[in-house]
Amino acid sequence: MNISTLLLPNLIDGAAPGCVIGAKSIAGAGPVMNPKSPINGQPTLPVSSCSTAQVGLAIVAATGSFNSWRLVPAPRRGELVRQVGDLVRKNKAELAELVCWEAGKIRAEAEGEIQEWIDVCEFAVGLSRQLYGNSIASERPEHHLIEQWQPLGPIGVISAFNFPAAVWAWNAMVALVCGDTIVWKPSEQTSLTALACHEMVTRVAANFEGAPEALSSVIIGDAEVGKSLVADERLPLISATGSTRMGRAVAEVVGARLGRSLLELGGNNAMIVAPSADLDLAVRAIVFAAVGTCGQRCTSLRRLIVHRDHVHKLSKQLQSSYASLPIGDPREEGTLVGPLVNEAAFERMQASIEAAKEQGGTLLCGGEARSEGVPAGGVYVEPALVLMPEQTEVMREETFAPLTYVVPYDTLDEAIAMHNGVPQGLSSSIFTTDVREAHRFMSATGSDCGLVGVNIGTSGAEIGGAFGGEKETGGGRESGSDSWKQYMRRSTATINYGTALPLAQGIKFGE
Ligand code: NAD
Repeated sequence: MNISTLLLPNLIDGAAPGCVIGAKSIAGAGPVMNPKSPINGQPTLPVSSCSTAQVGLAIVAATGSFNSWRLVPAPRRGELVRQVGDLVRKNKAELAELVCWEAGKIRAEAEGEIQEWIDVCEFAVGLSRQLYGNSIASERPEHHLIEQWQPLGPIGVISAFNFPAAVWAWNAMVALVCGDTIVWKPSEQTSLTALACHEMVTRVAANFEGAPEALSSVIIGDAEVGKSLVADERLPLISATGSTRMGRAVAEVVGARLGRSLLELGGNNAMIVAPSADLDLAVRAIVFAAVGTCGQRCTSLRRLIVHRDHVHKLSKQLQSSYASLPIGDPREEGTLVGPLVNEAAFERMQASIEAAKEQGGTLLCGGEARSEGVPAGGVYVEPALVLMPEQTEVMREETFAPLTYVVPYDTLDEAIAMHNGVPQGLSSSIFTTDVREAHRFMSATGSDCGLVGVNIGTSGAEIGGAFGGEKETGGGRESGSDSWKQYMRRSTATINYGTALPLAQGIKFGE
């Protein structure tokens, strides 16, 4: 791939920097990483990682910049984000190309990811005039009780490989209007996309009156660099997206220093297909949710809980859809299934298929590596469907690949129990035309997930709602609705505008 023009300002002697603090690129003092494109296994660009000391430098700069950024009025902060959104619009194709190259996403999904960033900019601009507090009735005469939201501080963002731009944007665009500054540790697989994303903010900030130097910084590296960020007490909030294993480690460290963590972790998403379901619509939703991004979305469909009467027909329909799926180079027009991120992901998929068979499952289709008609050096696989007699142990784990289990049910109670009977709680859906079933699924005794869909698939959330999930998914909420509150601190102010000093709860003290 030609080096993206968006990266050129950051390169040092043709190599990617270890960190970029504001507009300043610094050669990494840590080990050099050699990430490969999932498309063909070719090295992307050598990337040096930064040292612990360099992580510290970025945090010091972000702290200094926070001290001035928090004083800029929120609507003015929103204006900066508006300009970022405009610049991203102009560079959408080039940014999407990097996402495609480093994460292996097909073009339409890579562009969709950048569109998500543009959408969240618009949301954040509106929000910049709506960071509302409350005025609360005071129990004391001549007193006002006012709840206010203040900027929180410099925040740390850790992101996963599969959404190399959008996850940061959900956090960063909202945090910027809240008055925070950002230090971002992207996935070691997608450093170049991160540098290009950061460049968008840098270019706008350079010509924006009142924007401090280190509004946004990127620190490059693996889990070790992430650990330095997480442990640093100067960061009041760590927003971390990735596996549950990573989230547990982050929660422990941030919890021990009594910091705040916002966790967006693994999912194990299911769809219930009820007797009254529109099966043709369901098939379209299932295929997108199960094989989109080659099954590497946190919201990918992993479990299909199908009413026993539909199992045979639906399985046949899906098998025939899967048979004609265009698998191959994600850069080519018409491809719907791109590569897995690496060989290890393929091996994990094979291990799960084997475990499913040992637990009574029957492989209906897929699971084979694809070597013809795909770029050499990439890991391409046929999406798999496995029919299970019941929900077994392997179905309780997230396998990050296009592998979907089909399991029959007889009653809705049984289906919901199976649906909720896994450790994760991210996204869920039901296909039904029965209004009672739909509402039951959305109710307190229905899905226990953060995202609940009726007659839509599990993946492809809009930015307007709060995104996130329960249980091992981590409990965090990002993007829309009132997620912004996590990037601010709440203060409850009591103002006495009288001449007496009445105490709360009517306490008399020395009177
Ligand atoms: P991963 O956990 O391997 O890595 C994620 C990030 O965490 C990387 O930047 C990595 O360097 C860093 N990291 C790893 N260990 C760390 C530690 N101990 N301390 C600090 N940082 C650490 O995940 P991945 O393979 O990049 O992404 C796939 C996973 O992410 C899947 O489980 C998927 O479900 C999840 N995911 C969740 C969401 C969500 O919103 N819930 C979104 C995208 C991906």
